Amino acid sequence: MKIQQVDIKLYHVPLKQPLQDAIHGVQRDFSLIVVSLTTDDGATGMGYTYTVGQTGGSSVAALLEDNLAPLVIGEDPRRTEHLWNKMWWATHYIGRGGIASFAISAIDIALWDLRARLAREPLWRYLGGYDSKAEAYGGGIDFHLSIDELLRQTEGFLDEGLRAVKIKVGRESIAEECQRVAAVRSLIGDDKKLMVDVNMKWSVEQALRASRAFADYNVYWIEEPTTPDDIEGNRRIETEGPTPVASGENLHTIYEFKSLIADGAVSFPDVDISNVGGITAMVKVAHIAEAFNRPVTTHGIQDLHVSCLAAIPNASLLEIHAFRIDDFLVYPLQIVDGYAYASDRIGHGVVIDWEKIESHLVSRRSVSNGIRYEQTPFADSLA
Ligand SMILES: [Mg+2]
Repeated sequence: MKIQQVDIKLYHVPLKQPLQDAIHGVQRDFSLIVVSLTTDDGATGMGYTYTVGQTGGSSVAALLEDNLAPLVIGEDPRRTEHLWNKMWWATHYIGRGGIASFAISAIDIALWDLRARLAREPLWRYLGGYDSKAEAYGGGIDFHLSIDELLRQTEGFLDEGLRAVKIKVGRESIAEECQRVAAVRSLIGDDKKLMVDVNMKWSVEQALRASRAFADYNVYWIEEPTTPDDIEGNRRIETEGPTPVASGENLHTIYEFKSLIADGAVSFPDVDISNVGGITAMVKVAHIAEAFNRPVTTHGIQDLHVSCLAAIPNASLLEIHAFRIDDFLVYPLQIVDGYAYASDRIGHGVVIDWEKIESHLVSRRSVSNGIRYEQTPFADSLA
């Protein structure tokens, strides 16, 4: 069995309303890069990655077309470790993370989808099958909302069946943030989990002051309290403050996770298969975390991550991120009584309704046995 064709589609998906956190400013859309693999005997697999806004999406698509697709064509898709290493070392000099990890992720996810489909197994069971569900939370990108709007958003999460919520923080005034945290805690009651996300905005000293203040509201974790590159700073926030640290969405290699976890700088490693190097890398991060007795949470693309968290024994919460593609899915994620349920269809079970998402298509490229076809909605041409 050999991979015969790689199709790469880039979309700019608009958000239903502008969103804001402490560091990225106003977000109006995201780039979605979808990779489809087809083998010589007709087997298929699909994977995707995404970037914030329109930055980086076209670069990921170009790297996939120019460098990674030619590497995997002609290869056996079942050899995920071989292909992951081939892609990793081919991009190592310009990568070791960053855009290269996003591109590797999209292909690796497609390979695991294809493998599970060949085995006629749902991905969550194919990967280990620990449970069929994952506890989920509503992750608001809500820095700009008034307290009233924040509470309406929280009620919306509860109406969806979610039983845990996260809000954005990161202002200069810790007192102001405490008012917001207190309002949400008061609405949801004492029993539900409440998290906060700083998006790296604070210094170590600010984060430590906030960690102590948030303890009055039983905050389950403080996410990305400062830059993840400051491992010693994160270790201080984790060990000197009462609120556990979650971090990882800006780490794009298993080695970065190893450093953060092994140095005691994080309670909840927060992994994202769309930027860490796919499912191959995520499983390794989960195993490192397991050996350090740490539960793993996930960032974004909940429709895929539900199957990954359901597979492993040390799963923490699944983020239901505000960059949603529910409107373009044939089978949107099911959430009941606080839990998201992994698909029982073969593969990862995420099926895109190509017609519904077609209007957001920016470019479409196919690489097949060395021949490249580039098509856009505006001009179909053989490149
Ligand atoms: Mg976050």
